[in-house]
Amino acid sequence: MKITNKLNLPYGLVKAVSPEPHNKPGEISATTLIQGTKQVILTQRHWNELEDDVSERIWAVFGTAVHALLETEGENDFTEIEVKQPVADITVTGRIDNYNMSTGTICDYKNTSVYKIKASWQKGVDGKAYGFPEWRMQGLIYAWLLQKNGLPAKKCRFIALLKDHSKTESDRDHTYPQSPVYVYEFDVTKEALEEIESFIRKKVFQYELFSSSVDNMIPECTAEERWQKKDVYAVKKDGRKSAVKLFDTQKEAEEKIAELGKGHYLEVRKGESMKCKNYCLCSKFCNYCMENLISDDISDDVGKAA
Ligand code: SF4
Repeated sequence: MKITNKLNLPYGLVKAVSPEPHNKPGEISATTLIQGTKQVILTQRHWNELEDDVSERIWAVFGTAVHALLETEGENDFTEIEVKQPVADITVTGRIDNYNMSTGTICDYKNTSVYKIKASWQKGVDGKAYGFPEWRMQGLIYAWLLQKNGLPAKKCRFIALLKDHSKTESDRDHTYPQSPVYVYEFDVTKEALEEIESFIRKKVFQYELFSSSVDNMIPECTAEERWQKKDVYAVKKDGRKSAVKLFDTQKEAEEKIAELGKGHYLEVRKGESMKCKNYCLCSKFCNYCMENLISDDISDDVGKAA
């Protein structure tokens, strides 16, 4: 990966944020498995052509520093332990931040933002909170790897360190995380391990199946993997710029239009794929991104110019 240095930052910082390819040949890590297959293959295939700036990677330094500081082991807990398990022709790997063998507790540290925690509390159309599906999968893959290696795994704990937490905001707003540390934890059940095993096998199968396909023939990442926001249904009124009301479903919006009568109409606002737009380094090699996000930008520009 080419690392640019637009702000002319010191060499030590450039070196600290310069990444190595995440997976060794023939291996795929737990954190890679939870990404979209297209993202994984395109990132590996175009690694030497990928580009990022030092300033954009600065939070990676904090992540590395936190992990280095928390390396002290207790009597029963181990840090940075590596576990592996072959699946088909690939080896699935996991590097666990901290593991307590006597309690079977897996612990992972996350440097994250207040936004991530608040987003997890929002409810989807099914009425359930979004939670942390990617962390849950990561924890369960670790649990599955430990179990396959004859080690107990009963609980997963994610310790989220909120880098942008504000004490003032937490005093002012009771819906704001009240502490700069947030703990997400869950018990590992037999059913969850069975589910994650079929997920692992499916992802390894897809990865092997599409590894030799040309870029554009690899199916796009799923809506969840792309961090796609929900579509929003706006009830609009002739001659008014802003929406009269926004709805989560088309049905609700159409009912409102019927109630309000003539001069009102529906505008569907497609949910953006946030990872494609802002967080996927291989996006310029991805036809899905080029065809969808770029065409959206062009139509936005045309709309503004009209
Ligand atoms: S741009 Fe989006 S669809 Fe394409 S590889 Fe990245 S995350 Fe997947």
